[in-house]
Amino acid sequence: MSGLPERLQHLIRRDVQGLHAYAIQPSAGMIKLDAMENPYRMPAELRARLGERLAELALNRYPGERINELRAALAAHAGMPEGFELMLGNGSDELISMIAMACDVPGAGILAPVPGFVMYAMSAQLQGLKFTGVPLTADFELDEAAMLDAIARDRPSVIYLAYPNNPTANLWNDAVIEKIVEAAPGLVVIDEAYQPFASRSYLDRLQRHQHVLLMRTMSKFGLAGVRIGYLIGRKALVAELEKVRPPYNVSVLNAEAALFALEHADVFAAQAAQIRSQRAALLAELARLPGVKPWPSDANMILVRVPDAARAFAGLKERRVLVKNVSTMHPLLADCLRLTVGTPQENAELLAALQASL
Ligand code: PMP
Repeated sequence: MSGLPERLQHLIRRDVQGLHAYAIQPSAGMIKLDAMENPYRMPAELRARLGERLAELALNRYPGERINELRAALAAHAGMPEGFELMLGNGSDELISMIAMACDVPGAGILAPVPGFVMYAMSAQLQGLKFTGVPLTADFELDEAAMLDAIARDRPSVIYLAYPNNPTANLWNDAVIEKIVEAAPGLVVIDEAYQPFASRSYLDRLQRHQHVLLMRTMSKFGLAGVRIGYLIGRKALVAELEKVRPPYNVSVLNAEAALFALEHADVFAAQAAQIRSQRAALLAELARLPGVKPWPSDANMILVRVPDAARAFAGLKERRVLVKNVSTMHPLLADCLRLTVGTPQENAELLAALQASL
């Protein structure tokens, strides 16, 4: 419960008082492999040019036309089809909250496979919506029968499919996705946060449906600090979601940084290619460690099972390597750690530290 003085307690929702604020692990001086960030910064010469661009902005004005230019640039970058519209969020986290807000009609609920990205359940909880988490199979595939049963039973307003999934890093079977999309009584959001590292995208299939939204972010592209997420969907649907968006949710600084990055998309694409090749090397090395089981990955993270996750996590931390211990998130993740793919140097240090911590 909260530490609020008694006379203030009635002001804050009981369920909110029972929550914990999202905790960010302290990372000063550590090799930070806990949050699927791109380990590479923008090259120094580009950073200097971006600084000049930012210096020109009129910060006395609310965000205006540049925001529309960013929407157009992202639509072109993503290859948004005709008849679709793009909506911006302050990170895709904000889009997830806005979707829950817009869909909050009596009886509405949100459904997603679990283990999955925590914000889907969190957005439901904060909005007072029912959340249905459908367990994956033991090898982290969608459980087709369980998903279809839960959809028929709970009739969710929104189904989230992270493609690839966090923290299991895999893409789903496309035939199963189509069955879920066809069975969905409401919206389906395909969350492609990890698209820069994935071997497939849902984009080409988007046009077949009225009720499917594609969500992406610039965070994994290399701009996690900039906070730009975007949602692509049919115009009429996005027009409704736009009504719950706070008017100036994306700052001019963020928008300008994102526009600049898109002008240099080749630099970020090369970084993503580097990360994908490092992922293959890291996977092969992890598989050689005794007692360590890594799962294949379509993202910039690798899920591994170790003999004792608490011990390995503590040992890594002592050696100044920060990863995410996901073992208490869900029974399917017992003794699992989630490792972000870093630079070759960081990955080598991770491997040495993990070997010493098992
Ligand atoms: N979707 C998934 C599947 C994620 O793993 C994350 C963040 N790790 C997000 C969305 C949110 O990304 P952001 O708010 O940085 O855009």
